Amino acid sequence: MTTRMEGALSDLIVDNMSVGVFVVDPQFKVIRWNRFMQNRSGRSPADVLDRNLFEVFPELPRAWLSKKFESVFLLKNSAFTSWQNRPYLFQFQHDRPITGGIDYMRQDCTFMPLIENGEVTAVCVILFDVTQAAMISYEREAALAALSESSRRDGLTGVFNRHHLEVRLSEAFTQWTRSGSDFSLLMIDLDHFKQINDEFGHLVGDAVLRMSASRIGELLPPTAIFGRYGGEEFAVVLPSTLLDEAMEIGQQICQAVTREPVQCGDSQVKISVSVGVAQTTSAIKQYEMLIKQADGALYLAKSRGRNRAVSSLPI
Ligand code: GH3
Ligand code: MG
Ligand code: MG
Repeated sequence: MTTRMEGALSDLIVDNMSVGVFVVDPQFKVIRWNRFMQNRSGRSPADVLDRNLFEVFPELPRAWLSKKFESVFLLKNSAFTSWQNRPYLFQFQHDRPITGGIDYMRQDCTFMPLIENGEVTAVCVILFDVTQAAMISYEREAALAALSESSRRDGLTGVFNRHHLEVRLSEAFTQWTRSGSDFSLLMIDLDHFKQINDEFGHLVGDAVLRMSASRIGELLPPTAIFGRYGGEEFAVVLPSTLLDEAMEIGQQICQAVTREPVQCGDSQVKISVSVGVAQTTSAIKQYEMLIKQADGALYLAKSRGRNRAVSSLPI
C-alpha cells in the first residue's frame, strides 16, 4: 500500500470511529481533530486546527490537563484517566434521554505519545464515551444506598428499626466512655395499646403507631436517634443531653402525643404514652444497662398512672 493510501485509510478510520481522537503538539496546538470531536464539540477542524487547545476550550481544566500532557511528553509513556476520578474532560452533551442527573457525557481518556526518532512530537488523546457504564454504576450505587437505608428503617413507621437503634446506642456509649460527654435514653411505650387494637382493630392500631412516631419525631432535636424498639415501644438516644433536659423532652413527647385524638376513618382514638428516662452514669458499664435503667423508669411511669415521663432511680 502506498503511504498516501495508508494516510487516507487512517483518516477514514479515525474519522469514522465512535470515539474522540485529537492530537496536540508540545505547545498544545491541535494538529488532529476527528469527526467525533467535531460533532460533539460543535467545532470543526477549521475552528480548532493550529490553535492552542486551551484558547479554543477555556473551560478545560488547564493546570491538570497540561500536567498530564507534559508527563506524556517527558516520560514517553501512555497515561489514562477514568470518569470515576474525573467525570469528563470536555463538556459534551450526551445522547442518553434518561440519565438520572448526569450533566455531561462521562469520559475515559487515553493519552498516547507519538514518537518520531525517539522523541515525543505529539500526544494523541482518545476519548471514550462511557456515559452508559457510568449510568449503570450510579444507578447501582443509588440502589445500594437505598437498600442500606431501608435495612435501617422500620417498615411501618419509617423510623430506625431496633437493630440500627442498638448499633447507634452502642456507638454513642463507646464514644461516651472516651469523651465522658453524658447522654440520655428515652424508652417510650404507648398506653393501653392492646385495648386500642381490640376496640378499633389492628389497622387503626397501625395508624396510631405511625401517628405517634410522627408526633414524637417532629419535636426531637436533630441530633436525636429515634427508632422503634419493639411492638408499641420507641426509644430515643439524646446525645450530649443531661437527665433534666431529657426529662423535659420526655414531657413534651407526652404532651405532643395526647395533643389530639388520632382520626382514623370514623374513629377518634385517644392516645397517650409513658416515657422512661435514663442518663449515663459511672455505674452504667454497658449500654444494655442504660436500657434497663430507662425500662425501669418506664415501668414506674406506667405504675404511677401512665401519660407521663419518669426518670430512672439513681444507681
Ligand atoms: P401498657 O399501657 O401497659 O403498655 O399496655 P399495652 O396494652 O400498651 O401493652 P401490651 O404489652 O399488653 O400490648 C401491646 C400490644 O401491642 C400487643 C400487640 O398486639 C400490639 N402490637 C405490637 N406490635 C403491633 C403492630 O405492629 N401493630 C399493631 N396494630 N399492634 C401491635
Ligand atoms: Mg404499651
Ligand atoms: Mg410495650
